[in-house]
Amino acid sequence: MARLEIKNLHAEVNEEDGEQILKGVDLEVETGEIHALMGPNGSGKSTMAKIIAGHPAYTVTEGEVLIHLDDGDFGEDFEIPEDKRTWDLLDLEPNERAALGVFLGFQYPAEIEGVTMVNFLRTALNAKLEEREELFEEDEGEGEGEGEVEEESGYTTSPMEGPVDEGEIGVAEFQGLLREKMELLDMDERFATRYLNAGFSGGEKKQNEVLQAAILEPSIAVLDEIDSGLDIDRLQDVSAGINALRDEQGTGVLQITHYQRILDYVEPDHVHIMLDGKVVKSGGPELAEELEDKGYDWVREEVYGTA
Ligand code: ADP
Ligand code: MG
Ligand code: MG
Repeated sequence: MARLEIKNLHAEVNEEDGEQILKGVDLEVETGEIHALMGPNGSGKSTMAKIIAGHPAYTVTEGEVLIHLDDGDFGEDFEIPEDKRTWDLLDLEPNERAALGVFLGFQYPAEIEGVTMVNFLRTALNAKLEEREELFEEDEGEGEGEGEVEEESGYTTSPMEGPVDEGEIGVAEFQGLLREKMELLDMDERFATRYLNAGFSGGEKKQNEVLQAAILEPSIAVLDEIDSGLDIDRLQDVSAGINALRDEQGTGVLQITHYQRILDYVEPDHVHIMLDGKVVKSGGPELAEELEDKGYDWVREEVYGTA
Protein backbone atom coordinates (compact mmCIF):
# COMPACT_ATOMS: atom_id res chain seq x y z
CA MET A 1 0.00 0.00 0.00
CA ALA A 2 1.36 3.36 -0.98
CA ARG A 3 0.16 6.63 0.47
CA LEU A 4 0.56 10.13 -0.88
CA GLU A 5 0.56 12.65 1.93
CA ILE A 6 0.36 16.33 1.17
CA LYS A 7 1.22 18.20 4.36
CA ASN A 8 0.72 21.86 5.06
CA LEU A 9 1.69 22.74 1.49
CA HIS A 10 2.28 26.43 0.89
CA ALA A 11 3.40 27.70 -2.50
CA GLU A 12 3.75 30.88 -4.45
CA VAL A 13 4.29 31.87 -8.04
CA ASN A 14 7.88 32.51 -9.07
CA GLU A 15 7.67 36.18 -9.74
CA GLU A 16 8.73 39.21 -7.86
CA ASP A 17 6.07 39.60 -5.17
CA GLY A 18 4.72 36.28 -6.40
CA GLU A 19 1.24 35.62 -5.17
CA GLN A 20 0.74 33.00 -2.47
CA ILE A 21 -1.54 30.43 -4.08
CA LEU A 22 -1.45 27.42 -1.79
CA LYS A 23 -1.97 28.28 1.85
CA GLY A 24 -1.59 25.03 3.73
CA VAL A 25 -3.03 22.10 1.78
CA ASP A 26 -3.46 18.83 3.65
CA LEU A 27 -4.60 15.77 1.74
CA GLU A 28 -3.92 12.04 1.76
CA VAL A 29 -4.58 9.46 -0.93
CA GLU A 30 -3.94 5.75 -0.52
CA THR A 31 -3.62 2.97 -3.05
CA GLY A 32 -7.03 1.73 -4.15
CA GLU A 33 -8.95 4.84 -3.11
CA ILE A 34 -10.65 7.37 -5.32
CA HIS A 35 -10.60 10.95 -4.07
CA ALA A 36 -12.28 13.86 -5.79
CA LEU A 37 -10.77 17.29 -5.28
CA MET A 38 -13.31 19.95 -6.18
CA GLY A 39 -13.38 23.69 -5.94
CA PRO A 40 -14.26 26.85 -7.80
CA ASN A 41 -12.03 28.18 -10.56
CA GLY A 42 -8.89 29.77 -9.24
CA SER A 43 -8.90 27.97 -5.90
CA GLY A 44 -5.49 26.38 -6.55
CA LYS A 45 -6.32 22.84 -7.67
CA SER A 46 -4.17 22.84 -10.79
CA THR A 47 -1.37 24.61 -8.99
CA MET A 48 -1.33 21.80 -6.46
CA ALA A 49 -1.26 19.19 -9.24
CA LYS A 50 1.54 20.99 -11.03
CA ILE A 51 3.58 21.26 -7.84
CA ILE A 52 3.21 17.54 -7.24
CA ALA A 53 4.47 17.13 -10.80
CA GLY A 54 7.45 19.40 -10.20
CA HIS A 55 6.39 22.33 -12.38
CA PRO A 56 9.10 25.01 -12.29
CA ALA A 57 6.71 28.00 -12.17
CA TYR A 58 6.11 27.68 -8.42
CA THR A 59 8.12 27.80 -5.22
CA VAL A 60 7.08 25.75 -2.23
CA THR A 61 7.53 27.92 0.85
CA GLU A 62 6.37 25.40 3.44
CA GLY A 63 5.19 21.83 3.70
CA GLU A 64 5.88 18.44 2.19
CA VAL A 65 4.56 16.06 -0.43
CA LEU A 66 5.42 12.63 0.90
CA ILE A 67 5.07 9.24 -0.70
CA HIS A 68 5.07 6.34 1.74
CA LEU A 69 5.92 2.98 0.21
CA ASP A 70 5.41 -0.55 1.35
CA ASP A 71 6.50 -4.01 0.27
CA GLY A 72 4.66 -5.11 -2.84
CA ASP A 73 4.18 -1.62 -4.24
CA PHE A 74 6.62 -2.35 -7.06
CA GLY A 75 5.81 -6.03 -7.43
CA GLU A 76 6.50 -8.99 -5.20
CA ASP A 77 10.19 -9.28 -6.01
CA PHE A 78 11.05 -5.66 -5.41
CA GLU A 79 12.28 -5.16 -1.88
CA ILE A 80 11.99 -1.69 -0.48
CA PRO A 81 14.55 -1.10 2.27
CA GLU A 82 13.40 0.44 5.57
CA ASP A 83 15.30 3.65 4.94
CA LYS A 84 13.77 4.16 1.50
CA ARG A 85 10.10 3.90 2.33
CA THR A 86 9.30 7.57 2.67
CA TRP A 87 10.33 10.22 0.16
CA ASP A 88 9.56 13.90 -0.16
CA LEU A 89 8.66 14.36 -3.80
CA LEU A 90 9.63 18.00 -3.54
CA ASP A 91 13.28 16.93 -3.28
CA LEU A 92 13.08 14.87 -6.45
CA GLU A 93 13.07 15.37 -10.20
CA PRO A 94 9.79 14.76 -12.05
CA ASN A 95 11.05 11.48 -13.53
CA GLU A 96 12.07 10.28 -10.08
CA ARG A 97 8.58 11.05 -8.80
CA ALA A 98 7.17 8.91 -11.59
CA ALA A 99 9.59 6.14 -10.70
CA LEU A 100 8.22 6.13 -7.16
CA GLY A 101 4.77 5.39 -8.52
CA VAL A 102 3.20 8.82 -8.74
CA PHE A 103 1.54 9.52 -12.07
CA LEU A 104 0.92 13.07 -13.12
CA GLY A 105 -0.51 12.85 -16.55
CA PHE A 106 0.83 13.73 -19.91
CA GLN A 107 2.75 16.86 -20.34
CA TYR A 108 1.43 17.26 -23.84
CA PRO A 109 4.42 17.80 -26.04
CA ALA A 110 3.94 19.42 -29.36
CA GLU A 111 3.30 16.83 -32.00
CA ILE A 112 6.53 14.91 -32.24
CA GLU A 113 7.31 13.78 -35.69
CA GLY A 114 7.80 10.08 -36.20
CA VAL A 115 7.01 8.97 -32.63
CA THR A 116 4.14 6.56 -32.36
CA MET A 117 2.11 6.07 -29.21
CA VAL A 118 3.56 2.61 -28.82
CA ASN A 119 7.14 3.87 -28.92
CA PHE A 120 6.38 6.75 -26.64
CA LEU A 121 4.73 4.49 -24.07
CA ARG A 122 7.49 1.90 -24.16
CA THR A 123 10.12 4.59 -23.71
CA ALA A 124 8.19 6.05 -20.77
CA LEU A 125 7.89 2.64 -19.11
CA ASN A 126 11.56 1.79 -19.57
CA ALA A 127 12.60 5.20 -18.29
CA LYS A 128 10.51 4.63 -15.18
CA LEU A 129 11.99 1.20 -14.54
CA GLU A 130 15.53 2.42 -15.03
CA GLU A 131 15.01 5.43 -12.78
CA ARG A 132 13.54 3.16 -10.11
CA GLU A 133 16.57 0.87 -10.24
CA GLU A 134 18.78 3.90 -9.73
CA LEU A 135 16.78 5.25 -6.80
CA PHE A 136 16.92 1.92 -4.98
CA GLU A 137 20.44 0.98 -5.94
CA GLU A 138 22.50 0.25 -2.89
CA ASP A 139 24.71 3.18 -2.16
CA GLU A 140 27.90 1.13 -1.79
CA GLY A 141 30.09 0.53 -4.79
CA GLU A 142 29.22 3.75 -6.52
CA GLY A 143 31.36 4.48 -9.52
CA GLU A 144 31.77 0.93 -10.63
CA GLY A 145 29.60 -0.54 -13.29
CA GLU A 146 29.13 2.62 -15.29
CA GLY A 147 30.99 1.22 -18.26
CA GLU A 148 29.83 -2.33 -17.82
CA VAL A 149 26.19 -1.59 -18.39
CA GLU A 150 26.90 -0.63 -21.96
CA GLU A 151 28.66 -3.93 -22.58
CA GLU A 152 25.64 -5.80 -21.34
CA SER A 153 23.51 -4.25 -24.04
CA GLY A 154 22.40 -6.90 -26.43
CA TYR A 155 20.24 -7.40 -29.42
CA THR A 156 16.97 -9.23 -29.43
CA THR A 157 16.45 -11.96 -31.96
CA SER A 158 15.11 -9.54 -34.50
CA PRO A 159 17.56 -6.81 -35.48
CA MET A 160 14.53 -4.71 -36.37
CA GLU A 161 13.81 -4.40 -32.69
CA GLY A 162 17.06 -2.63 -31.98
CA PRO A 163 19.25 -2.82 -28.90
CA VAL A 164 17.63 -3.76 -25.65
CA ASP A 165 19.41 -3.05 -22.38
CA GLU A 166 19.21 -5.55 -19.62
CA GLY A 167 16.08 -5.03 -17.57
CA GLU A 168 14.48 -3.11 -20.40
CA ILE A 169 11.21 -4.18 -21.89
CA GLY A 170 11.71 -5.05 -25.53
CA VAL A 171 9.36 -4.38 -28.39
CA ALA A 172 7.77 -7.81 -28.51
CA GLU A 173 7.15 -8.02 -24.79
CA PHE A 174 5.78 -4.50 -24.77
CA GLN A 175 3.33 -5.30 -27.57
CA GLY A 176 1.82 -7.96 -25.33
CA LEU A 177 1.57 -5.62 -22.37
CA LEU A 178 0.04 -2.90 -24.50
CA ARG A 179 -2.54 -5.27 -25.92
CA GLU A 180 -3.50 -6.37 -22.45
CA LYS A 181 -3.89 -2.79 -21.21
CA MET A 182 -5.85 -1.67 -24.24
CA GLU A 183 -8.20 -4.57 -23.71
CA LEU A 184 -8.57 -3.60 -20.08
CA LEU A 185 -9.50 -0.07 -21.13
CA ASP A 186 -11.61 -1.24 -24.03
CA MET A 187 -9.56 0.89 -26.43
CA ASP A 188 -9.26 0.58 -30.15
CA GLU A 189 -5.97 -1.11 -31.06
CA ARG A 190 -5.34 1.33 -33.85
CA PHE A 191 -4.64 3.99 -31.26
CA ALA A 192 -1.23 2.56 -30.54
CA THR A 193 0.13 2.91 -34.04
CA ARG A 194 -0.84 6.55 -34.37
CA TYR A 195 1.71 9.28 -34.08
CA LEU A 196 1.97 11.06 -30.79
CA ASN A 197 -0.74 13.66 -30.52
CA ALA A 198 -0.95 14.11 -34.26
CA GLY A 199 -4.59 14.71 -34.88
CA PHE A 200 -5.73 13.35 -31.56
CA SER A 201 -8.98 14.91 -30.49
CA GLY A 202 -9.29 16.32 -26.98
CA GLY A 203 -11.11 13.19 -25.93
CA GLU A 204 -8.52 10.89 -27.45
CA LYS A 205 -5.77 12.73 -25.60
CA LYS A 206 -7.63 12.11 -22.36
CA GLN A 207 -7.96 8.44 -23.21
CA ASN A 208 -4.26 8.32 -23.96
CA GLU A 209 -3.61 9.77 -20.55
CA VAL A 210 -5.51 6.88 -18.98
CA LEU A 211 -3.64 4.42 -21.21
CA GLN A 212 -0.34 5.87 -20.11
CA ALA A 213 -1.39 5.38 -16.49
CA ALA A 214 -2.38 1.80 -17.25
CA ILE A 215 1.04 1.10 -18.75
CA LEU A 216 3.02 2.78 -15.98
CA GLU A 217 0.92 1.16 -13.24
CA PRO A 218 1.34 3.95 -10.74
CA SER A 219 0.41 3.59 -7.06
CA ILE A 220 -1.21 7.01 -7.16
CA ALA A 221 -2.50 8.94 -10.18
CA VAL A 222 -3.29 12.63 -10.09
CA LEU A 223 -5.69 13.52 -12.89
CA ASP A 224 -6.43 17.21 -13.41
CA GLU A 225 -9.70 17.94 -15.18
CA ILE A 226 -9.55 14.82 -17.28
CA ASP A 227 -13.30 15.37 -17.76
CA SER A 228 -13.06 18.82 -19.29
CA GLY A 229 -14.41 19.13 -22.80
CA LEU A 230 -15.52 15.51 -23.13
CA ASP A 231 -18.80 14.54 -24.71
CA ILE A 232 -20.87 12.02 -22.82
CA ASP A 233 -19.65 8.93 -24.70
CA ARG A 234 -16.02 9.82 -24.26
CA LEU A 235 -16.62 10.77 -20.65
CA GLN A 236 -18.00 7.31 -20.04
CA ASP A 237 -15.02 5.67 -21.78
CA VAL A 238 -12.52 7.70 -19.78
CA SER A 239 -14.45 7.04 -16.57
CA ALA A 240 -14.53 3.30 -17.22
CA GLY A 241 -10.77 3.48 -17.74
CA ILE A 242 -10.23 5.24 -14.41
CA ASN A 243 -12.39 2.68 -12.63
CA ALA A 244 -10.34 -0.08 -14.26
CA LEU A 245 -7.10 1.50 -13.04
CA ARG A 246 -8.43 1.33 -9.50
CA ASP A 247 -10.19 -2.02 -9.68
CA GLU A 248 -7.63 -3.96 -11.73
CA GLN A 249 -4.33 -2.43 -10.69
CA GLY A 250 -5.21 -0.89 -7.34
CA THR A 251 -4.24 2.62 -8.38
CA GLY A 252 -5.22 5.35 -5.94
CA VAL A 253 -6.76 8.23 -7.87
CA LEU A 254 -6.84 11.91 -7.04
CA GLN A 255 -9.40 13.20 -9.45
CA ILE A 256 -9.41 16.97 -9.74
CA THR A 257 -12.58 18.35 -11.21
CA HIS A 258 -14.65 21.46 -11.33
CA TYR A 259 -17.82 19.58 -12.18
CA GLN A 260 -19.79 16.92 -10.41
CA ARG A 261 -20.64 15.19 -13.70
CA ILE A 262 -17.74 12.71 -13.90
CA LEU A 263 -18.43 11.62 -10.32
CA ASP A 264 -21.62 9.98 -11.58
CA TYR A 265 -19.31 7.52 -13.39
CA VAL A 266 -16.25 7.44 -11.17
CA GLU A 267 -17.67 7.27 -7.70
CA PRO A 268 -15.27 8.77 -5.18
CA ASP A 269 -14.70 7.31 -1.74
CA HIS A 270 -13.79 10.78 -0.48
CA VAL A 271 -14.59 14.28 -1.68
CA HIS A 272 -12.54 17.34 -0.75
CA ILE A 273 -13.27 20.98 -1.37
CA MET A 274 -10.51 23.46 -2.02
CA LEU A 275 -11.19 27.14 -1.44
CA ASP A 276 -8.58 29.85 -1.70
CA GLY A 277 -5.56 27.58 -1.53
CA LYS A 278 -6.70 25.21 1.21
CA VAL A 279 -8.75 22.07 1.56
CA VAL A 280 -11.53 23.41 3.73
CA LYS A 281 -13.93 20.51 3.84
CA SER A 282 -13.88 16.75 3.24
CA GLY A 283 -16.61 14.17 3.17
CA GLY A 284 -18.10 11.27 1.24
CA PRO A 285 -19.78 11.22 -2.18
CA GLU A 286 -22.79 13.05 -0.77
CA LEU A 287 -20.63 16.17 -0.50
CA ALA A 288 -20.29 16.29 -4.29
CA GLU A 289 -24.05 16.06 -4.65
CA GLU A 290 -24.50 18.87 -2.21
CA LEU A 291 -22.16 21.01 -4.33
CA GLU A 292 -24.11 20.11 -7.42
CA ASP A 293 -27.32 21.33 -5.77
CA LYS A 294 -26.03 24.36 -3.95
CA GLY A 295 -22.75 25.50 -5.51
CA TYR A 296 -19.85 26.66 -3.37
CA ASP A 297 -21.32 29.63 -1.54
CA TRP A 298 -22.62 27.64 1.39
CA VAL A 299 -19.13 26.20 1.88
CA ARG A 300 -17.69 29.72 1.96
CA GLU A 301 -20.34 30.73 4.45
CA GLU A 302 -19.60 27.74 6.60
CA VAL A 303 -15.84 28.32 6.50
CA TYR A 304 -15.59 32.09 6.59
CA GLY A 305 -18.97 32.98 8.03
CA THR A 306 -19.76 35.01 4.91
CA ALA A 307 -20.31 34.25 1.23
P1 ADP B 1 -7.84 26.03 -10.30
O1 ADP B 1 -7.15 24.91 -10.98
O2 ADP B 1 -8.44 25.65 -8.98
O3 ADP B 1 -8.85 26.69 -11.18
P2 ADP B 1 -5.26 27.37 -10.42
O4 ADP B 1 -4.35 26.57 -9.59
O5 ADP B 1 -5.17 27.23 -11.89
O6 ADP B 1 -6.77 27.16 -9.92
O7 ADP B 1 -5.04 28.92 -10.05
C1 ADP B 1 -5.10 29.41 -8.74
C2 ADP B 1 -4.73 30.87 -8.71
O8 ADP B 1 -3.33 31.01 -8.94
C3 ADP B 1 -5.42 31.70 -9.77
O9 ADP B 1 -5.70 32.95 -9.21
C4 ADP B 1 -4.36 31.82 -10.85
O10 ADP B 1 -4.52 33.01 -11.58
C5 ADP B 1 -3.09 31.86 -10.04
N1 ADP B 1 -1.97 31.29 -10.80
C6 ADP B 1 -1.76 29.99 -11.06
N2 ADP B 1 -0.63 29.79 -11.78
C7 ADP B 1 -0.10 31.01 -11.96
C8 ADP B 1 1.08 31.51 -12.62
N3 ADP B 1 1.93 30.65 -13.22
N4 ADP B 1 1.30 32.83 -12.61
C9 ADP B 1 0.45 33.67 -12.00
N5 ADP B 1 -0.67 33.29 -11.36
C10 ADP B 1 -0.94 31.98 -11.33
MG1 MG C 1 -7.49 23.98 -12.81
MG1 MG D 1 12.07 18.88 1.62
